[in-house]
Amino acid sequence: MHGKDIRIAGLRKDFGATSVLKGIDLDVRQGEFLTLLGPSGCGKSTLLRLIAGFDIPTSGTLEIGGRDVTYLVPKQRQIAMVFQSYALYPHMSAGRNISIPLEMQRLSFSQRLPGAGFLSSKVRRIREDIAADVARVADQLGLESLLDRKPAQLSGGQRQRVAIGRALVRNPSVFLMDEPLSNLDAKLRNQLREEIADLHRRTGITFVFVTHDQKEAMALSDRIALMQGGQIVQCGTPGELYGAPALLSVARFVGSAP
Ligand code: ADP
Ligand code: MG
Repeated sequence: MHGKDIRIAGLRKDFGATSVLKGIDLDVRQGEFLTLLGPSGCGKSTLLRLIAGFDIPTSGTLEIGGRDVTYLVPKQRQIAMVFQSYALYPHMSAGRNISIPLEMQRLSFSQRLPGAGFLSSKVRRIREDIAADVARVADQLGLESLLDRKPAQLSGGQRQRVAIGRALVRNPSVFLMDEPLSNLDAKLRNQLREEIADLHRRTGITFVFVTHDQKEAMALSDRIALMQGGQIVQCGTPGELYGAPALLSVARFVGSAP
């Protein structure tokens, strides 16, 4: 598993007469942890959705791993996205929530039905492969003992870990996270922040992480792209943003203004 670099050039997004992204240029290096930081409404989620392919830009281009993906659908991009709310299937176990993307990918509808595994050795083998992938991800995220539980029987942090597992199981080369910690209390947020940092170190996947929380951005990121009003106003290491803010508004935002 390894990451891929992302090249974003001249990316604009209008909704009707409103210009939400006003020309974004950004390179994310392979294996880097890059954070989009900025106040609510500045366009972070819109940019992430364009990278994921849930929407297409008004103009500009987007490359992942040297391939122009500007107009490709999400599943052609080898990316995975984790949202603020976990969006787990409430009637399915944690394990099934993690395995469902692989089942959709590798099995037909009738092959996914309970009992189908007993009918054909081919289906059985695919199911065994899927189970092995789920076990690997559960091990990475410390979810081994929780796989049989339903989402309602899990804590907020455990649910978000399952949501991360469901994204991770597809072996993405780019991981997109839109404020994944903002629904959690402070203690869980710190704990899960550590786990995300650890996941990044162990997998080498390219991360694009969105937050409006400066401390979170400072703690996690190789580089931070600070956004304001649909533009990137400064991009650099946490030290650069804090030590040499390009604008007074940046200094105020990162708390280094005199
Ligand atoms: P952030 O994630 O930084 O809070 P968003 O990317 O969600 O910001 O939104 C940026 C701006 O674009 C907001 O003013 C929002 O109202 C607007 N916006 C986002 N999506 C749409 C849409 N589908 N239609 C119209 N306006 C939108
Ligand atoms: Mg947002």
